[in-house]
Amino acid sequence: MRSGADYLKAIGDDRAIYVDGQRVRDVVDHPAFRPIAVTMSELFDKAADPASGMAFTAPETGADANRVYGIPRSREDLTAYRLAVDTWARHTHGWVGRSPDHVAAFVAGFAAHPEVFSSGERDLSANVLAYHRALLDQSRYVSYAIIPPQVSRATTAHAWDGDLVQAGVVEETSEGIVVRGAQMLATGGPVADDIFVSCIKPLTDDDRDFAVSFVVPVGTEGLKLYCRRPYAPAATSTYDYPLTTRYDETDALLVFDDVLIPWANVFVDRDVTAVRRQFHDTGAHVLGNWQAQNRFSVKLRFLAGLARKVAAVNGVDKFPGVVEKLGELASLASIVESGVLAAEYTAAPDDAGFWRPGKRAVYGAMGLQAELYPRALAILRDLVGGGVLQVPSSVADMHNPETRADIDRYIYSPNAPAEERVKLFKLAWDAVGSEFAGRHHQYEMFYAGAPFVVKGYTFRNYGFEEPLAEVDEFLAGYGID
Ligand SMILES: Cc1cc2nc3c(=O)[nH]c(=O)nc-3n(C[C@H](O)[C@H](O)[C@H](O)COP(=O)(O)OP(=O)(O)OC[C@H]3O[C@@H](n4cnc5c(N)ncnc54)[C@H](O)[C@@H]3O)c2cc1C
Repeated sequence: MRSGADYLKAIGDDRAIYVDGQRVRDVVDHPAFRPIAVTMSELFDKAADPASGMAFTAPETGADANRVYGIPRSREDLTAYRLAVDTWARHTHGWVGRSPDHVAAFVAGFAAHPEVFSSGERDLSANVLAYHRALLDQSRYVSYAIIPPQVSRATTAHAWDGDLVQAGVVEETSEGIVVRGAQMLATGGPVADDIFVSCIKPLTDDDRDFAVSFVVPVGTEGLKLYCRRPYAPAATSTYDYPLTTRYDETDALLVFDDVLIPWANVFVDRDVTAVRRQFHDTGAHVLGNWQAQNRFSVKLRFLAGLARKVAAVNGVDKFPGVVEKLGELASLASIVESGVLAAEYTAAPDDAGFWRPGKRAVYGAMGLQAELYPRALAILRDLVGGGVLQVPSSVADMHNPETRADIDRYIYSPNAPAEERVKLFKLAWDAVGSEFAGRHHQYEMFYAGAPFVVKGYTFRNYGFEEPLAEVDEFLAGYGID
């Protein structure tokens, strides 16, 4: 099992990451990336610790592996998989969306159905299986970029001005495909080992050149990552920004300057149907999004705890109006947790023996996420009031005896001396109001697609046949006579 130190060593390569007009020399030592890299390394150390129970013997390799990379092949496997995912999510309290288990779930789904990758002109299924085995053996951290850059959504990329703006195949050689163009938005990309690149938005027959799927090591020559402004470097201390200083994953646009992707790394080569089938027919999408809902459920539980604590410190937690708000928050958290568990309860094996979480439950929880998360934040925001701003500018004020005396005298609560109260309210601000918090708001609304796309998944996976049949049967039971 990979250690955190092994992971940190591996990402210290010559990758081309750009921030503030500069090429980053070493992500592991850079203030934007070191904090999240250390958090990721903690996840690997946790998985390698036998006490975590995350290891299993992978049937594909016969060796020890981290369960989050495995294909659940029985109900017991599925439960063990969820517990492994949950162990990692609890370590970050749900504040890291693209921990390595997210894309790993997609690759496991692909490997459960290699036939999807053999239907085009080339049989690339062996590449998928080999890559899955590499993940099991090496616990690689894979991020993904599967959305075309936001140029225009009125058409797909073939109609855009400019040649290969969306990442696509410019040339084929005996060694592989040469890729040019951009793709968004690789969360965690700068600190990943590899990035999976494809397109989950529907493509037309005219978009064949963009209908690819492949993995690329982040350090590959010609691949550049343009990061949004990182928040961690501006955070004054962990006391002031306890979430930003640990969990700022970064998000990056990928740019391919004619990058050779060797055949061994190609899963789909210019095949519109296979690109769509890889996500939905293999079960990759439902497993990956079950992982995501589990992570989300852990985060909502954390927010519920935070809201309850804030209310108690402010002495309002017994007021009926506040109990109602906390009850609503508890209800939101419970709905998602119940969806995660219901997906396990309704799971069933597919024709390849891959135990897929129940679709109705997974997509049912996901469909509400874009409303549910803003509502949860609104309740917390309501409860904290101005307390999140009635705090000293930074931890430095806590260390200066001149300012500290006033802080101790005026910024306290009966059940929380100043140091504790300020700490709690600074955490609350990092959850609802900081730039990190704003990015999380956007993340929860969009990470699985725009809300209209996610509700489309819910619509298609609910299984309307059964309720429609019930209504028809009911209607057939009476008439004008
Ligand atoms: C913080 C964050 C992290 C992300 N991380 C990743 C990642 O790791 N990997 C990855 O691949 N992607 C990632 N994404 C990208 C994410 O998948 C996309 O943002 C998402 O798929 C929505 O696509 P878009 O942003 O292009 O929005 P658009 O498709 O441009 O949609 C924006 C809005 O336009 C309207 N709209 C657009 N088209 C239609 C239509 N046909 N019908 C009706 N309304 C429409 C809707 O109001 C929609 O909400 C991330 C996004 C965010 C915000």
